[in-house]
Amino acid sequence: MKEKKLFESLYVRSLIEASRDPLIAININGKITDMNKAMTIITGVSRKKLTGTNFFKYFTDQKKAKKVYVQVFDKGFVIDYPLTIKDHKLTDVLFNGSVYKDEKGNVLGAVVVARDITEQNLIAKSLNEAIIFAEMATEIAEEAKSKAESATKIAEEAMKAKQQFLSNMSHEIRTPMNAIIGFTKVLLKTDLTEKQIEYLHAIKLSGDALIVLINDILDLAKVDAGKMTFEQIPFKMSLSISAMLHLFEIKIQEKNLLLFKDYDENIPDVLIGDPVRLHQIILNLISNAVKFTNHGKITVSVHLISEDDDSASVEFTVSDTGIGIPREKLGKIFENFQQSNSETTRLYGGTGLGLAIAKHLVEAQGGTIGVKSQLNEGSIFSFNLNFLKTDLKAEIEIDQIEISSDIKNIKVLAVEDISINQLLMKTILDDFGFDFDVAENGKVAIEKMQSCKYDIVLMDLQMPIMNGFEATEHIRKIMLSEIPIIAITADVTTIDLERCKTVGMNDHIAKPIDEKLLYTKIIGLIKKSSELNTPEKKQKQIKKVKPPPCINLDYLTQRTKGNPVLMKEMITLFLKQTPSLVSSMKKSMEKKDWKTMQAAAHKMIPSFAIMGIDPEIEKTVKQIKEFATNKENHKELIEMVKKVENVCTKACAELKKNTLMKEVKK
Ligand code: ADP
Repeated sequence: MKEKKLFESLYVRSLIEASRDPLIAININGKITDMNKAMTIITGVSRKKLTGTNFFKYFTDQKKAKKVYVQVFDKGFVIDYPLTIKDHKLTDVLFNGSVYKDEKGNVLGAVVVARDITEQNLIAKSLNEAIIFAEMATEIAEEAKSKAESATKIAEEAMKAKQQFLSNMSHEIRTPMNAIIGFTKVLLKTDLTEKQIEYLHAIKLSGDALIVLINDILDLAKVDAGKMTFEQIPFKMSLSISAMLHLFEIKIQEKNLLLFKDYDENIPDVLIGDPVRLHQIILNLISNAVKFTNHGKITVSVHLISEDDDSASVEFTVSDTGIGIPREKLGKIFENFQQSNSETTRLYGGTGLGLAIAKHLVEAQGGTIGVKSQLNEGSIFSFNLNFLKTDLKAEIEIDQIEISSDIKNIKVLAVEDISINQLLMKTILDDFGFDFDVAENGKVAIEKMQSCKYDIVLMDLQMPIMNGFEATEHIRKIMLSEIPIIAITADVTTIDLERCKTVGMNDHIAKPIDEKLLYTKIIGLIKKSSELNTPEKKQKQIKKVKPPPCINLDYLTQRTKGNPVLMKEMITLFLKQTPSLVSSMKKSMEKKDWKTMQAAAHKMIPSFAIMGIDPEIEKTVKQIKEFATNKENHKELIEMVKKVENVCTKACAELKKNTLMKEVKK
């Protein structure tokens, strides 16, 4: 028995000593009565010296340590009480302990264990630091982001300002240039002496060069702003190339050069692409070839490289027997403002922009451009582009149109505010033999269109009172007219051209106006529109694209839970009230009886949604009501009421035809 007890006490002792956490027994006076080895190690004090000393003596904060002692004897236990041992490295510990009692329940003392939490604290500290760092890093990143954003905004604004500046500049330069070049052409058609013709040609040449320069600078700005856009229209490649070569005939003759065309007949007849940009690229290469060649020939070759079911890859080559380009300059000439020789501008003119733009135009369409050259022997510029194949007919080509006998008595409405341009336009249209009227702004144009029938509108964009965009929007949306409209643009920024399309213009032409091009465009559009309007075509169109129904009874079905009697009642009411409301609206408009008009519009509004009629009409009726309330804008009202009348008539006709009505009638 005695041996067993001895064994037990030794066993307990060894457990206590094995603990790596300091363990202390204290009596009710707070004096240390026992401890394990870990306590002697951590304090660096021997067992002998520790025994009988005050427990709190070994901690940095003695007051706090005393509280552990008070707490353990007060409550009978202590849990996770933080203290720091006064050792050389100031070990942070958490105290856990409880009192021990004799058999009668008297408290004899307490046993407390101190768990070393230095590591834990260190981890917590570094975690904390990491969090702070992360927060700081986020803050820095956010700051950098907002700086980058504001820098982007500034850059975007600068780019916009640059575009705006160029657009304004081009407008300012083009307007007088338009007049200079235009009237030079007019003068050239009059009786002149040889000297006068020579001088006028010189003026025209300088004007043309200036316009090319403006176009180049604008194109470059578009490329910089990533705003270069490409059309995808069907065109005849062979016609496009021949038309372009025609342009150089006089120049080639003047320089006593020869021009050869080598066109591969295997190239599909009609391809889809951007013929204007293609012209621009080839024009650049040919005009360089002509400019830098004094003897010999220029050859323009167009070859099919490959073809599949959908597309054709075509290579264009312009070779000359001119001055050539030094080898070390070959890599540079496609860069902005680069010329092979500092003498080039003086001897040949130019700015070094043409090839840079051509390269952009080719590469933006997925092609490549290159050059081979031998000094004093000549240069070969070539590029290749991919085009989609199509069965569609090509859009009307330059040089292809002759006055057709079926297009006679063309009446043009020219909308232009600047009087010198009006005069020029009159001269050009007179020359074409067209009948025409001139309107000084969009508002006047709309008024004229209401009283007179025109075949086509030539619309300037920037005008006071009502500009070209607003006028076109009105013609398309309010007057519901499909009349062909050509924008006459002084600004050729992409933004403007996009807007032209959006508002419903059919085409555009830049100032100074190329008469031949204008003529082609006018005839082309009128031809197209008259073709569309022949009775057979109209019939075909109707067959092909059945107009969408005006009414949609889904909403009514839903509201009436499909009850046919209720639905019939609603439809009958609509059929009964609508025509009389429309007629009351029309009559009150004539009499300017705004009150009745307002009441008619008000009564009409809810029925559109019920019959599922386009919400646009509801908006128009609301506008009519507003106009009537304000007793204003009589001209626009006429168009709006007409539009509402059309839709209501159509809706009534559809409703009468509706199967539901037929069924209910039975
Ligand atoms: P520009 O012709 O207005 O100077 P380009 O960008 O069209 O500008 O051409 C850049 C330069 O490349 C020209 O100045 C000229 O030195 C050289 N170059 C271009 N085409 C030819 C050519 N066919 N023959 C000789 N040099 C050429």
